[in-house]
Amino acid sequence: MKLVIIGGVAAGMSAALEAKRVNPDLAVTVYEASHYVNLSACGLPYVISGALPDPAVLASRGAQDFKAQGINVFTRHLVTDVDYPARQVRVKDLDSGRSFSDSFDQLLLATGAKVIRPELEGGELPGLYGLRNLEDAQQIQAALARGVTRAVIVGGGYIGLMMADALTKRGLKVTVVEQLPRLLGNVDTEVAALALQELERNGVEVALQTEVTGLAGNGRVERVITSRGELPADFVLLTTGVRPNADLAAGAGVDINPLGAVRVNDRMETNLPGIFAAGDLVEVHHLVSHRPAYIPLGSTATKQGRVAGINIAGGEGRFAGVVGTTISKTFDLAVGLTGLSELEAAALDIPSASATIADFDHAPYYPDRRPLTVKLVFGPGDGRLLGAQIAGYGIAVKRIDVIATLLHRGGTIEDLSRLDLAYAAAFSPVLDPLILAANRALSSNRRSR
Ligand code: FAD
Repeated sequence: MKLVIIGGVAAGMSAALEAKRVNPDLAVTVYEASHYVNLSACGLPYVISGALPDPAVLASRGAQDFKAQGINVFTRHLVTDVDYPARQVRVKDLDSGRSFSDSFDQLLLATGAKVIRPELEGGELPGLYGLRNLEDAQQIQAALARGVTRAVIVGGGYIGLMMADALTKRGLKVTVVEQLPRLLGNVDTEVAALALQELERNGVEVALQTEVTGLAGNGRVERVITSRGELPADFVLLTTGVRPNADLAAGAGVDINPLGAVRVNDRMETNLPGIFAAGDLVEVHHLVSHRPAYIPLGSTATKQGRVAGINIAGGEGRFAGVVGTTISKTFDLAVGLTGLSELEAAALDIPSASATIADFDHAPYYPDRRPLTVKLVFGPGDGRLLGAQIAGYGIAVKRIDVIATLLHRGGTIEDLSRLDLAYAAAFSPVLDPLILAANRALSSNRRSR
């Protein structure tokens, strides 16, 4: 039996390792178009900020390491076609230019996502960058080495904000341009406002409700044209989101949903027997909204890859679905999100109420306590938790995982208020901010009944 995997990052390499673990006799071949396999893209902004002087730490295991584990990895090999009836892929060696065919019994599509590139007048001018892989990061590093000074970041999501932090640390004057009236799109306005304050406190300019329509300059980018005027810039970064890299899957006859993502079941099987898909390429089942969603994350891709690998190798694995848990850090401020925000609930016609508290991460008498804001979103009446957002500093924001756990279990604000959470002065006030928020939610829910 032979497994071919297309794409060698989070989903692809987790699947390869897991498949080999479950069935050591399985022949596994991975084709990866870039120079690197098993890249931790989440660390790319730290390469650019200078916090990680050696980018190699993000792809610490190369093709040779996987070969030692019996996995044949070919980097710089682009799969150009999948012939499902013939069970063959067509592969192009990007270095030699040679093309060849390879056969498979089972196929995993792990081609990930690609940066959404809006139609911009002047978009062909040098000076426009995206950030998806190490090659992109190297191009950005080369631009920084040439001495660029004014950056415009198009898109105020978590990657845009991480990059605003990184580029500021490299001495650039940074403006973030966001078409929505808030940063961090799926976070509610009052929590997103804390991220805005953090950026402004660190000298980043933010233009909200502003659309970038084009680029202008003499031979390279010098200005960014927006719906509210022009901004000077010699470096423009697109962080406008990603979409599934699904052309190959579509060409093979795999089902694609209206969001452009590959449809899979909880075993990561597509509609075509023997073809599996995982990672940023696929839709997920949202356990709070009970609807299909597209939430591309490394955490999810790794878990889905493992499930695909287990099933391909003859084991039994299931991917439960997601509650959309994320955490990100801009300068010192971290924002965690799980489940639905009020804005998302409204967009899905799910009735919601909320309670927000502004507290601290530990006891008042213990040094260096920092503010912690907790917002709970819940069903009016039944008090079922729908989501939460937490903003604060350091590891305190990882409390978001407590709420994520409750969301997986269909928990309520009452369940949260009764949890036996750890207390010591250095870690928490005697009543944890999550319990305070739950108590606030309970009393407002009682009042509104
Ligand atoms: P990808 O990482 O997109 O990998 C797909 C691979 O397939 C690519 O290397 C591509 O070259 C290859 N490929 C595509 N088509 C072909 C083909 N035809 N032939 C051969 N190879 C092909 N997630 C988090 O959970 N937390 C974070 O903090 C976080 N931070 C991030 C920060 C940045 C800057 C970025 C860019 C992403 C971040 N992510 C984060 C998202 C995370 O990196 C992705 O969700 C994850 O990499 C998805 O893995 P994947 O294997 O599905 O796809």
